[in-house]
Amino acid sequence: MPATESINVLGLESEALTRLVSQWGGKPFRARQLSRWVHQRGVDRFDQMTDLAKDFRSNLDAHCEVRGPQVNLEKRSTDGTRKWLFDMGQGNAIETVFIPEDDRGTLCISSQAGCTVACPFCSTGYQGFSRNLSTAEIIGQLWHANRALRDDPAAARLDGGPAPARTISNVVMMGMGEPLLNYDQVLGALRLMVDDNAYGLSRRRVTVSTSGVVPMIDRLAGDCPVALAVSLHAPNDALRDRLVPLNRKYPLDELLDACNRYLEVAPRDFITFEYIMLDGVNDSVEQADELVQIARRVRCKFNLIPFNPFPQSGLKRSPASRIRLFAQRLMDAGQIVTVRKTRGEDIDAACGQLAGEVKDRTRINERLPDRARIVIRRKERE
Ligand code: SAH
Ligand code: SF4
Repeated sequence: MPATESINVLGLESEALTRLVSQWGGKPFRARQLSRWVHQRGVDRFDQMTDLAKDFRSNLDAHCEVRGPQVNLEKRSTDGTRKWLFDMGQGNAIETVFIPEDDRGTLCISSQAGCTVACPFCSTGYQGFSRNLSTAEIIGQLWHANRALRDDPAAARLDGGPAPARTISNVVMMGMGEPLLNYDQVLGALRLMVDDNAYGLSRRRVTVSTSGVVPMIDRLAGDCPVALAVSLHAPNDALRDRLVPLNRKYPLDELLDACNRYLEVAPRDFITFEYIMLDGVNDSVEQADELVQIARRVRCKFNLIPFNPFPQSGLKRSPASRIRLFAQRLMDAGQIVTVRKTRGEDIDAACGQLAGEVKDRTRINERLPDRARIVIRRKERE
């Protein structure tokens, strides 16, 4: 092991940690001890890990470190939602959001700086792609938020409402980036989330949200099945090709088949279909009926997401009355539907508003004409 390069222990899932420890003659239980210090107690200094043998600690000191992400900015919403902006170096920043509710605390984390999928309703997609995050950078968001919430037990709602959950019971990979296009690094982070010696979250309470990377849905089923949310957003290929450009590569038929294969091993017996409500684009009664036909092919629940506008999108949120009508139409056909509450809007922490700062190294914006966004609306209105 090169003495110069320090290993960030945060990024090592149990197998890798056990391997590291065994190089120094340590037994697997040493790795478990270390994991608990780092992930459960949030300790980042080896000299504070008092029950570790001295020679083990000196090896750790010589070769390793526990390096969480660097915080650029932290914001708190009046509804208790918290957002952290992390500096990822070279001008990149990513965002993480904690959403406290009465019965759970959900952390929404990012998997990439930017995103290559370039959905026209998403501010992350609009920024282009910069780079994949490492396992340490992905799990570091959870590590940091855990510590911050623990250090601040008084962090109740600023609007005087009842005190919500203050610990993280759920993690959703719905921040910036497409998790299944950064598969290996995301997998390492997921394994840590569900590891009893790390975060010990139930598989049912860890959700990967994907725009539909079919082969990787299959791999996830084999490697670490957690709850799955699929960003559907359209009831047919023609519209989905425009709203979720990845659909051109993995069209609906293939995606729905992959969902069914996933359900064979999933910890929940349904897939969550996310469906963003865009005024005049995908929110008509006819489209709801078309959606029902698709939904009948997969055991699913719908989560309707009112679009959170951002200046460049040229798109509008469906009016509340239309969202209600759309939801009712699905429910009348026997579907289970929830409408996502928008949280943390006052701190730009709502879905799709996570912008961070990403240098568009792939120049997606230049490659995708701005007009594409406007065409979506005009065509639907014609
Ligand atoms: N790339 C993954 C996960 C990150 S996006 C995916 O697309 O599923 C997480 C969710 O936020 C997706 O369902 C996405 O469609 C939604 N989203 C993106 N932009 C949004 C916006 N402006 N308003 C509301 N939801 C948005
Ligand atoms: Fe990427 Fe998801 Fe945003 Fe689409 S919605 S651009 S897949 S982060």
